[in-house]
Amino acid sequence: MEYLLNEADRCLKCKNPRCKQHCPIATPIPEVITLFQENKLQEAGKMLFENNPLSAICAIVCPHEDQCKGFCIKGIKSEPVSFCDIERFVSEKYLEDLVLHKAPSNQHKIAIVGSGPAGITAAILLAQKGYQITMFELHDRIGGVLTYGIPEFRLPRTLVANLEKKLRELGVTIKTNTIVGPIITLDKLFLDGYDAIFIGTGVWNPKTLNIKGETLPHALYAIDYLKNPSSYTLGERVCVIGAGNVAMDAARSAKYYGSPNVTICYRRGEEDMTATKVEIADAKEEGLSLIYLRAQ
Ligand SMILES: Cc1cc2nc3c(=O)[nH]c(=O)nc-3n(C[C@H](O)[C@H](O)[C@H](O)COP(=O)(O)OP(=O)(O)OC[C@H]3O[C@@H](n4cnc5c(N)ncnc54)[C@H](O)[C@@H]3O)c2cc1C
Repeated sequence: MEYLLNEADRCLKCKNPRCKQHCPIATPIPEVITLFQENKLQEAGKMLFENNPLSAICAIVCPHEDQCKGFCIKGIKSEPVSFCDIERFVSEKYLEDLVLHKAPSNQHKIAIVGSGPAGITAAILLAQKGYQITMFELHDRIGGVLTYGIPEFRLPRTLVANLEKKLRELGVTIKTNTIVGPIITLDKLFLDGYDAIFIGTGVWNPKTLNIKGETLPHALYAIDYLKNPSSYTLGERVCVIGAGNVAMDAARSAKYYGSPNVTICYRRGEEDMTATKVEIADAKEEGLSLIYLRAQ
């Protein structure tokens, strides 16, 4: 708590806050920091949740160094203010204590296809306006990449579980293990009285290398592997090709689930790596090797 208050006190409350301007959802950062300093945690949490119901998650997984933190004026001469740590503290507590109630119905039905961050956000916002929401999800759990992509050591699953609780409190019906498309078509949804359909199905195709060997038994696409890393036995030596955040997640997961020698192989130099600095630092700290300027 002392660290967080110190961070808050370092904020200059800029007239034109670049942190807020460079946040894709314009999080009211200076206002939240002021409430935090005044110990108005509930109000700060409410402000964050109303601006972004997934605030507790964004506080952890957003690429802050390219957004709020990267544009903090303090960062020009010293360390930028780490608002994300304040946001995480405030939003996790707020989400834990929050009890939502079903809004009076406006008699309109909406189908939401996909329960990733997009689907969850749409469901919360629309249910609060009185829409009757049914969420269709092809997996057995909601969350999309938050559940079947980002490793648990980076994003605690309790956060998605809490959001699911909020959805249910708002009266959202969640139909898991249900794919929309082949059998349940959009026409069928309209036939069943949905006034609108929100499609938030994400992108689940891997970015392929297009080289020989991609179909071999020991070659995996990160996006498939990360769905359930514990179900694989990768062996002693693992090579991860690429240097973005997904590659870091795959490499760190391989190490976490028992492969002792994990190497990240990248065709360009370290300065070109697209993963965030935090992820690269974590990967190095965990003993992963990196090979640069190597291509097929
Ligand atoms: C490994 C990995 C790590 C990432 N890390 C970060 C990060 O640290 N920070 C960051 O900002 N972004 C990160 N991203 C990107 C981020 O996760 C995505 O931008 C985000 O998840 C997109 O949200 P979405 O709701 O649109 O889609 P998704 O999260 O993909 O969710 C889509 C949902 O729709 C469901 N679905 C798909 N088709 C159907 C269908 N026909 N019927 C029913 N349901 C269907 C899927 O099962 C899924 O649950 C990462 C992505 C990956 C793959």
